[in-house]
Amino acid sequence: MQIELPLAIAPMPVPVGTLRYIQLGSEIVGYRFRRARRRSIGIVIDDDGLRVAAPGHTPVAEVEVFLREKMHWILKKLSEWRAAPKPPVVNWSDGATIALLGSPVTIALVPGRRDIVLEKGRLGIGLAPRGDPAALRKRGIAWIKERARSLLGERLALYAANLGVPTPTLALSSARRQWGLCREDGRVRLNWRLIHLPLHLVDYVVAHELAHLREMNHSTRFWAVVGGLYPDYRKARSELRHCSHRLPIL
Ligand SMILES: [Zn+2]
Repeated sequence: MQIELPLAIAPMPVPVGTLRYIQLGSEIVGYRFRRARRRSIGIVIDDDGLRVAAPGHTPVAEVEVFLREKMHWILKKLSEWRAAPKPPVVNWSDGATIALLGSPVTIALVPGRRDIVLEKGRLGIGLAPRGDPAALRKRGIAWIKERARSLLGERLALYAANLGVPTPTLALSSARRQWGLCREDGRVRLNWRLIHLPLHLVDYVVAHELAHLREMNHSTRFWAVVGGLYPDYRKARSELRHCSHRLPIL
């Protein structure tokens, strides 16, 4: 069993399923279709657009009848989804900004150096001669992940001590739909993108996953454990929901 802390809307969409099209009213709507072990057809509209799951035996024609029946709902939701704010895409160039621990940091390319230095809100990235932008981005992300690893490791150790458990083994995740994950064997995975968020939200996710070492569920007992570690968890939880969709795409 594993417990997930969902990301409201995740960066980096990687759609699952076969792409199909259907005409709904005057619109041609693309959707991702997959077969699933379920009793009825299910539809979801999220950051990937429209996704449809159907039981293994349902003919495609029946799926299409279902989609046409839900046409008004689907078209309304899709237009809301298109109008929703999209996460910013970071352009790895001089003057671009990213958020680290909730504060903006300006990227500055520094010719003639190889290292990456964060100082006073400025992220100086050494620019090798003829350095190509893809390599720059890759180095920048690697640096951010290393920062995330050390920060998350620190916070995990701190909250594990507060809970009175040994510090669990930390693995970084790049999951699309979750901030953290705690397995029954005690391993904890935390999303490196947490480093974009203010520290108090990072701490909430850490406390939440650690509390699963006591309660592998989301019961009242579980929330009591979270509250013992992180009293203001209700506020953090709703804040986390609201900032998820503003996570930049690096
Ligand atoms: Zn949980």
